[in-house]
Amino acid sequence: MTSIDPTRHTPDASLDLPAVEKHNWKSQEHRDAWDGRLGRFSSAFDRAMEAALVDDEHPRTGLRRTLPTDDAIDLVARVSDAVDIARKSGDRTTTVGLTTPACDVDADALLDGVESQEIERSIRGIPECCADAHRDAREAGFDDPIAEIARNTPRSTERGGELVVEDPHPVLNRAWAYLGWRFVDFHPCSFECDAAREVAIQNGRLLRETGHGETADAMFEFLASPTYWSGYHGLAHVKNGWCIGEYTTDDYWSEEVVRFNGYHDSLAGSSSEGC
Ligand SMILES: [Zn+2]
Repeated sequence: MTSIDPTRHTPDASLDLPAVEKHNWKSQEHRDAWDGRLGRFSSAFDRAMEAALVDDEHPRTGLRRTLPTDDAIDLVARVSDAVDIARKSGDRTTTVGLTTPACDVDADALLDGVESQEIERSIRGIPECCADAHRDAREAGFDDPIAEIARNTPRSTERGGELVVEDPHPVLNRAWAYLGWRFVDFHPCSFECDAAREVAIQNGRLLRETGHGETADAMFEFLASPTYWSGYHGLAHVKNGWCIGEYTTDDYWSEEVVRFNGYHDSLAGSSSEGC
């Protein structure tokens, strides 16, 4: 393993750029093949997280969500009796707090907001290693720590100034997370973190159990493809064989490039079954 220089300039948090979020398919064929299937993923993932609350295998114990009031009413109607519910309505939206008996706080407290990062970690079921790494990254000024995660990935190497991640877990590819296209809703400590992968496996299972297996399979195929990410002056450029996108990221003073060079995980190329 080649050691990677961990020294970075601190991002310039004063940079105030308008938020950017756009992507284009490389051809009409690619759009036809992917757009509909991936477009359904975010709402499917939300449903899977509701299911996670009452799932014995999944570590999540609470969920806080702000929705248009009609959608919030639907959400409350479909949650299990085993879940405690608190809600607070505004003009058009309602915030809902849902907790299970195993949760560290009750639904009212979750609704008001949780100050403790440790309790937040426990509620969302984030592995300790990942929460610790993300806290460190945030304290160093990184809110979107793709390059930092790549540096912390054991089998990453630095080649020609680029970080090459040779053998990541495909389900931990967060290069497209700007669009909600990811299997974990937190930053893993490394792209090879087994604890984060285990959460991704549970999320994939819940997607299938809630009737979104095809959407999960499409996302798995998309994320398992070699991916290029670069960040510079607040803008991330992301691409794979089908899609290219630009998104707001931290203000890197010098260009950071991360290449997810290929996924050699035995699951790659098969399906999200077991992902
Ligand atoms: Zn971790």
